[in-house]
Amino acid sequence: MTTTMIREEVASAGFDDFVQLVGDGFGQAVGTGIRVPPAPNILYRVLCLVLDLGVCDELVHLGQFATLLFDRSLPVDDGDTVRWRDQIPITTEGWQGLPDTSTTWTVTVQPRAQPRRIAGPFDQDTFVFEDSDTPALVYETAHFPAVPTMPGYLGLDAYTAPPMRGQPILSLRDVRYAWTRNEAWFIRRRAQRPERVRVYCDVVQGNPATRTVPVDGVPGGALPEVITGLPPETRFVQVFPGAIVGKVGARAVLQRALQRADGACLVCDAPRHGPPAPRGPTPDREVA
Ligand SMILES: [Zn+2]
Repeated sequence: MTTTMIREEVASAGFDDFVQLVGDGFGQAVGTGIRVPPAPNILYRVLCLVLDLGVCDELVHLGQFATLLFDRSLPVDDGDTVRWRDQIPITTEGWQGLPDTSTTWTVTVQPRAQPRRIAGPFDQDTFVFEDSDTPALVYETAHFPAVPTMPGYLGLDAYTAPPMRGQPILSLRDVRYAWTRNEAWFIRRRAQRPERVRVYCDVVQGNPATRTVPVDGVPGGALPEVITGLPPETRFVQVFPGAIVGKVGARAVLQRALQRADGACLVCDAPRHGPPAPRGPTPDREVA
């Protein structure tokens, strides 16, 4: 049997303020998922994945990623404090335990003839004006205080989201298919033309200052872990009532169509699908 496709997997990664002193193997302050700023009651639009498909390539399935975060200062031995984060991934299907947050993932498709992108006034690592070729929080407008209290784009105090690019084809609210699980958001979509698939996650960030979280019958809120049968996310919010959405992202599995040496497609037997679609700006040609 001839192999006609190869499988590949991609996942969101971006600027992470908690690794800035360490960096990864390439010296980059990059972590899994895209950080969501803490400024509350704002709808953030995160471009989780940008996938360029050629003819006969397939988007097979998607997984969702979101975390709950509690960010605080903790005392250390010499009387100083250290910034510390407690964070867990949301893995309980459909969990929506923070009444003032929401998360919605949307998949869009666009023929691959990209309009020219314009740089924005606040562009930086993982924070890009209107549209991006790599995972990022995209913005239409943003504002930063004179002295931001957090690094990178996380210190913003005002933000508006740009319109989504492409045609929405699928939408899913809350984490239904955590990317750590075997179950996946099954899509199986084969490209009929070169196209760009984007996976967005819209996040409304919560406001712990105005939130009321019941302690669920535990005196003084002590030892909430003794309550059995509650999802871990609910226990986390009981322990840390100030939790917010920390990160979101997505994971995709693709199958790339292979070609014979003469250029014929091994999936559909077409003699040739034409040259690979151009990446980036193509003002003078139309991709059918
Ligand atoms: Zn083909």
